[in-house]
Amino acid sequence: MNVPRNFMPEPDCMADRVVLVTGATRGIGRTVARDLAKHGATVLLHGRNAAALDSLHEEISGLGPEPAVAQLDLERAQGDEYRHLTEQIEERYGRLDGLLHNAGVLGDRSPIEHYDIALWQRVIHVNLNAGFILTRCLLPLLGRSGDASILFTTSGVGQRGRAYWGAYSVSKFGVEGLAQVLADELENTSVRVNCFNPGATRTGMRASAYPAEDPATLKRPEDLVRPYLFLLGPASRGITGQRFEFQA
Ligand code: NAP
Repeated sequence: MNVPRNFMPEPDCMADRVVLVTGATRGIGRTVARDLAKHGATVLLHGRNAAALDSLHEEISGLGPEPAVAQLDLERAQGDEYRHLTEQIEERYGRLDGLLHNAGVLGDRSPIEHYDIALWQRVIHVNLNAGFILTRCLLPLLGRSGDASILFTTSGVGQRGRAYWGAYSVSKFGVEGLAQVLADELENTSVRVNCFNPGATRTGMRASAYPAEDPATLKRPEDLVRPYLFLLGPASRGITGQRFEFQA
């Protein structure tokens, strides 16, 4: 599916919405977090690095409602840390209106035969298992919103496998499966669940995957803001269980 061509976000289209963005310290997540705030959202900025989160918080403060920081290393976090984060959100906001699963790692571009086993497990954990755990913890708070959106980030290798994309590709297949199962379970509730493939975008991850590519030939994270505002905001109310693609 594509975002309707005639969708033009109003300047306050995210007003009164509390949205958690994972992997907000760099790349697509950082830009989307900034734009959600500019459009009126209270953004909960997730990352693992305290210094990066502080600088992001400073950058976003003043653009919109006061943002908050949610520090959690998705590779290492245990149940207590997820519980603590959930309690903090509950105490401060009482609900959650949006959850953008954006954080991710590329892993290695190598054949399965040579794929490092520990790295495989880390990639699957960060890209898939951590998203499941976070979703499971936050579902009660999402259920308290009258109009909540869970958005998973997939990839061009999340529906058809491609050589040397290893654990990254397999994790994105898993993400799409998780989103479909969850969307089906939450049908007829106020929580919608969709996937979005941002496509080739000028970020650190893309540069690691394609080191010989000229980044200037790629769209910037700023070019993705419209679909994220559509999918995380009230404009996509009622749409669930879908996979969206970026369309220029
Ligand atoms: P990126 O620039 O590498 O940013 C990834 C983000 O995830 C960073 O904020 C990073 O935090 C965070 N992260 C990684 N591991 C983490 C961990 N263990 N705990 C907490 N945070 C962690 O990547 P991107 O290109 O913006 O990608 C964003 C999403 O889009 C990913 O899901 C990716 O698969 C998807 N995607 C990207 C493209 C593309 O062309 N860029 C295409 C299709 C799909 P640190 O700064 O701490 O590392």
